[in-house]
Amino acid sequence: MTTPLRPAGVSLDIWGTLLGSDPAFKPARNQMVRDALAPTVATDAFDAAMRQADRDVDDQVVVDGVDVGFAGRIEATLRRLGMTEVSVETRAPELMARQEALALAHPPVPLAAELPEAVAAVPVPVVLTSNTGMLPGELMRKLLALAGFGGLPGVFSNEVGVAKPRPEIFAEARAVLDVPAEQVLHVGDNPVADVQGAQAAGMVAALVRPDGVSTLEVLRGVR
Ligand SMILES: [Mg+2]
Repeated sequence: MTTPLRPAGVSLDIWGTLLGSDPAFKPARNQMVRDALAPTVATDAFDAAMRQADRDVDDQVVVDGVDVGFAGRIEATLRRLGMTEVSVETRAPELMARQEALALAHPPVPLAAELPEAVAAVPVPVVLTSNTGMLPGELMRKLLALAGFGGLPGVFSNEVGVAKPRPEIFAEARAVLDVPAEQVLHVGDNPVADVQGAQAAGMVAALVRPDGVSTLEVLRGVR
């Protein structure tokens, strides 16, 4: 039995709360980057370096709230491989376009099939508040539409310039909802970025497991 929640607005994390990656996407994207920038590195080694760099950056983001996007995460990967002489910045637009094609071919999927319907049924304004990582907001809007979450306003770290848990991104979400912070329920799967961050911004926070089921339970409890 879920306790009914009566927020005036709901802010939702995306990754691990609403969506998961298509398992084919990251290997294909990582191979594309390898082929372009590090063709002498074995595919498996490059893939492993990219995944580890992504995790390391995510760990740092929840400490300092500094957003690190596509180019920065590839640079972190190349640093891990000792390839500091390779310039990412000049190649980034072309690689981003190729990443977009791969993401649209392998779009993320709702963590539970009923989630799009449950989000649409929330009886108060909803905003998506997301740390974007390698997939910027511009692309996320297209992917969200493909996954059944089209039309919802999004506050994306690469567009705000800082990431959760920094209060600025929650302030932006609150402004989109146009309700007082203390009447906003933020739902997310990261105890620091989502729960501590939202609470520090004056919101109520709900921590979910990254399985979609507990997100459904929280959403269905909003009355
Ligand atoms: Mg998340």
